[in-house]
Amino acid sequence: MNSRVKRLAVAALATATATLGLTVANPAPASAAMTICYNTSQAPSYASIANQAASIWNNATTNLTLTANCGTNLRIYQITGGGSYAQRTSLGNGRVYIDTQQAAQYSPLRIMTHEIGHILGLPDNYNGNCAILMSGGSAGTSCTNPYPSTTEANRVSSLFAGTLSANDRRSSTGSQVFKDSWPGLLSVG
Ligand SMILES: [Zn+2]
Repeated sequence: MNSRVKRLAVAALATATATLGLTVANPAPASAAMTICYNTSQAPSYASIANQAASIWNNATTNLTLTANCGTNLRIYQITGGGSYAQRTSLGNGRVYIDTQQAAQYSPLRIMTHEIGHILGLPDNYNGNCAILMSGGSAGTSCTNPYPSTTEANRVSSLFAGTLSANDRRSSTGSQVFKDSWPGLLSVG
């Protein structure tokens, strides 16, 4: 049932119960919590990192749950060269690519939680602040913080709750590729 139809149905139900002299104290929320099934079969070196990143997001947010290998909302790949990036197809759906060379320079867990952050609706925010997850590589290779800030986590929760404005949602939930979050270092030799 799409949300418009659902709203109409809820309205009809409210009218019916009002007619009966009843009240609906807590009508069903517009959107139920989403289970995001991630699959690490194409990223064998980073399966445990992905599990850690999923726990971080699950602990920091509401209205969504990242669960391993129950489906393929989110496919995680490991690649060599070209840079880590995320390809969001819609909110909670897409692909994350972890560049093994970058993961040897930057914290692989920070890369993983950052790239998943794009799938969860967050844009890049290259302000150099290590406390901001979506600052990515702008905070330098010494920054290993894998945790979203409260502001970042709350935005994700709001997106999945469906409580943001239509404009805000549109810019955060559409198909988009997020590249070049981790500046390359000069290679040695
Ligand atoms: Zn990014």
